[in-house]
Amino acid sequence: MGLANKIPVPDPAEKPEKSTPDAAGIYVHVPFCSHACDFCAFYQVEPRRDDIDRYLATIEREFALVPAERCETVFWGGGTPGLLPARDLERLARAQVERFGQPTREWTVELAPGSVREDKLRILRDAGVTRVSLGVQSFAPTMLEALGRRHSLAQVREAWRLIEAVGFRSRNIDLIFAVPGQTLESWIGDLDEAAAVGADHVSTYCLTFEEDTALFVRLSQGKVKLDVERERAFYEATWDRLAAHGLAQYEISNHARPGHACLHNLNTWRMGRWHGFGPSAASQERAWRGANVADLAQWCDDVARGRRGQVDRSPLDAAQLVEDALIFGLRMNEGVALPALRARFGAAATEPFEPALLGLLEEGLVERRAEGVVALTRAGRLVADAVGEALLGLAQAGRD
Ligand code: SF4
Repeated sequence: MGLANKIPVPDPAEKPEKSTPDAAGIYVHVPFCSHACDFCAFYQVEPRRDDIDRYLATIEREFALVPAERCETVFWGGGTPGLLPARDLERLARAQVERFGQPTREWTVELAPGSVREDKLRILRDAGVTRVSLGVQSFAPTMLEALGRRHSLAQVREAWRLIEAVGFRSRNIDLIFAVPGQTLESWIGDLDEAAAVGADHVSTYCLTFEEDTALFVRLSQGKVKLDVERERAFYEATWDRLAAHGLAQYEISNHARPGHACLHNLNTWRMGRWHGFGPSAASQERAWRGANVADLAQWCDDVARGRRGQVDRSPLDAAQLVEDALIFGLRMNEGVALPALRARFGAAATEPFEPALLGLLEEGLVERRAEGVVALTRAGRLVADAVGEALLGLAQAGRD
């Protein structure tokens, strides 16, 4: 008997933040940054005027490659979307709304503190943006320096003042921890400050050393060191401190006040559909998934030929979706409802993963809740990446 059969069937009533079945999201990658931060591996280029013009003209063409449909959520990420001049933001927003209408539930735009201006914020709010995400990274000037960020604390404060003055339904602050030289006290100070300024959502990322970044080079040269125990202490302090401030964890790295979870990300973690636009943007359509090429010129060329999502493109199959629904779903505090997964993808796709889940249950990394839900325990959350890898390996073994 499968694991799903041993656990009571859940109440099918949808949670308030759950998307309607099959609703899509839109992700727009805006690939411009004024300078490359030391830790960052996202695709980005300098904002030259001719490149911005090429980008805008091409994204309008790329919108036209996707059948017009009303979407629930939109997320503009980057890069630094807020770096675009006001009239370019207006053009991009207008093109998107003309093609897909206003998103019905949420529209997020990422902003960097150094490029926030009141006129841009007004244009975004008037276009329908409901949520802004400010890349603060730290409130401590020495940490900003260690991360190679070029914004100052004064710019962070001014950006936040403007965001509050213009008014958006949800305001997120991004923070980074386990930075070389950062103390736990300094990190807790960052968390307290984010709560004190009134963020409705706080995303906390453990510094990672991506290849081709300045930090990775320093790691390879022995100038900075990885310390797993230290990272664990930062994780646990984050969860406890933000919870005490009323910002409950709902995913390993994400915390929100009630009603402010990021709906766009929830849709992707639950293996919904989304259309990705812009260089390097990933898409998950009904029949396939893939990413656009991470190169502005090549992406323009692809779009001119009517092509999207050519990188790592693969047809979607149920086993792949179950795999990702488990890996991303377990990272969420709500966990994964196995009977629902089974109903959606079929027993043949879910059963190979059940021995793996039983193993994780026995190790105390995953727990069983009512209504057929499995979720990471606190111990499991601390090793979530390893759990994901174990799940993949065990599931593969179950299929062989
Ligand atoms: S962290 Fe943000 S601003 Fe810095 S290079 Fe990466 S995308 Fe650009």
